[in-house]
Amino acid sequence: MGKTALVSGAGSGIGFAIASRFVEEGACVVLTDIDEEALEKRAQEITLGGGRTWSMGLDVSSERAWSRIIERLDEESLSLDIMVNNAGIPAMGTIEETDLASWRRVMAINLDGTFLGCKFAISHMKQRGGGVIVNISSIGALRASVVGPAYGASKAGVWNLTRTVALHCARSGYNIRCNSVHPGLTRTPMMNDMPEDMIARMAATVPTGKVAEPEDIASAVLYLASDEARQVTGSTLVVDGGMLA
Ligand code: NAD
Repeated sequence: MGKTALVSGAGSGIGFAIASRFVEEGACVVLTDIDEEALEKRAQEITLGGGRTWSMGLDVSSERAWSRIIERLDEESLSLDIMVNNAGIPAMGTIEETDLASWRRVMAINLDGTFLGCKFAISHMKQRGGGVIVNISSIGALRASVVGPAYGASKAGVWNLTRTVALHCARSGYNIRCNSVHPGLTRTPMMNDMPEDMIARMAATVPTGKVAEPEDIASAVLYLASDEARQVTGSTLVVDGGMLA
């Protein structure tokens, strides 16, 4: 592959699977996460396997933190080819149970974080002749869930933002593609916060009969980031075992 990719939320779950898969494919990967301890451990696992990685703390909801990352990339002469906006948090509770503070927290990380990731990726990539942005949304963007108004709205925002970025970059002649991946139920630590009966109920609704592994999502991201997808921009790639069907 020979490219450089930045993955946010790479200290766990899907983000770590994406970073690992990119490394396996020969990319240099910048792993970022707000949880620097988890990040260090994960980066070491990849490096021990012979991968080329950098790890940098990043709170995706902080504009200042993004500026520092871009400065750091410049200092290290790292030129980004791929940006994966993966960091995100879940939120449970009906609209009546959701207070404004938790709504704002979910929006800040899931939606503001992706907005900032796209903005910084565009400003960096357009000077370097192009690149690819992949945003991790959710099937929660595409259908309503009574127990996830904040999460669903944030991920629907990511979905629409993705298509807006794709159009803007295409029309501006930046050679930057932008697509969203929409995982269904995926086995990651994010599921630890869900009640067991809810996980069981959700798993029973997957037509393939199984929840996805993080590696299934990483494969979809790899495709979108690759030259095989050179004509694919503004698209919605659902990886959900048929749940939405
Ligand atoms: P996870 O909890 O295993 O990993 C999320 C990572 O994001 C963690 O390492 C966490 O430290 C990091 N993070 C949290 N807040 C951050 C911040 N402000 N800045 C930077 N990093 C931050 O979760 P996951 O299941 O791997 O989720 C990854 C993405 O996939 C999320 O956007 C999530 O919404 C999406 N997703 C997951 C599922 C699922 O079933 N697991 C389904 C659909 C979509």
